Amino acid sequence: MEYTILDLEWNSAYAPKIGGYLNEIIQFGAVRLDSHLQVIDTYDTFVRPQTGRITRLVTELTNITDDDVKNGRLFMDAFRRFCRFAQDSVILTWSDGDLRELIHNYRYYTGKIELPLRAQYADLQEYCQSRLPALPGGRQLGLADAAVQLGLDPEAFALHRAIDDSLLSAECLRCTFDEAELARRIIPMDTRLYQRLTFKARFITDRRDPLIDPAQFEFVCPLCGGELAGKEDWGLHNRQFFRRFTCRACGKKLKARVQFKEKFEGVQVKRSIQEDLPKPAPAEAEA
Ligand SMILES: [Zn+2]
Repeated sequence: MEYTILDLEWNSAYAPKIGGYLNEIIQFGAVRLDSHLQVIDTYDTFVRPQTGRITRLVTELTNITDDDVKNGRLFMDAFRRFCRFAQDSVILTWSDGDLRELIHNYRYYTGKIELPLRAQYADLQEYCQSRLPALPGGRQLGLADAAVQLGLDPEAFALHRAIDDSLLSAECLRCTFDEAELARRIIPMDTRLYQRLTFKARFITDRRDPLIDPAQFEFVCPLCGGELAGKEDWGLHNRQFFRRFTCRACGKKLKARVQFKEKFEGVQVKRSIQEDLPKPAPAEAEA
C-alpha cells in the first residue's frame, strides 16, 4: 500500500460562472509514501487563478502572492499531473475539506464531481485524532496542534505552504502509524463519497415538504403525559418550527420546537418541549 498526502492552498473569489464563491485552488502540495512511509516522490505546483486576485488574508496565511501564481499551471493541467502522481495509492488529507475543494474545482471546469482517479481515501485528521487524547469540547485537532502533541516542531516546517503541510502530515502519520487501524478508515473513492462531499445540507422550512414526517409534530405534556391543546398553528422562527400549547390535564403552558435538517445521510430531527415560563420581570430599579 502506498499513500499520497495532499494539501491544497486556495483563494476564495467570486466566480460569475457559478454566481457564487469558489475556493479556487492556487497550490498543490503532495508527498507520495511507500508502505514503510518513506517519501518516494513529491508534487508541488502553483495554479494560476482564473477568478480573481489573491486576497490579503490568503497571502498572510500562506505567503502566496499574485507574483507566485502568475506563471502557475492552469488548474486542469495541475490536476491531471496530480492524478498521475496519486494513481493507485491511498489519498490522505487533513480533514476532508481539501478533497471537497478539489472536487468543487474539478466540477467548476468539467461539470462533473467524480474525479478520474483510481485511488482510495482516508481522513488523516480523523485517524490522528483517534490516536491522540481527546480535545476539550470535541474540538477538531489542527495539524500544528497534532504536531506539538507528538513532540514535533511545527516551526521547522514553513506551515501553510502546501508541500510543507504535507511533509508535516507525513511526520504525524509516522508517529501514530498503525497499519491495521489506518486500513479500517480507508474508503473507496466512489460515487457515494463524491455525492456525500458535494451534498449541501439545508434546513427544511416548508411544512409540506415530503421529507417531513408529520408525526414529529406530535407532542404530549412532558410533565404529566396529558393531551395538549394549541390555539395557534405551528410558526417558523430561526429555521425551526415552534408552537405554544396548554396541557388539558395539568393546565401548564408549554412551548414545543422542531427542527428538520436534510443531510446526505438523511433527515436529522431535533425536538424539544418545555414549560413556557413568563419572562422574568425586570429587576426593580434601586431607589
Ligand atoms: Zn400536563
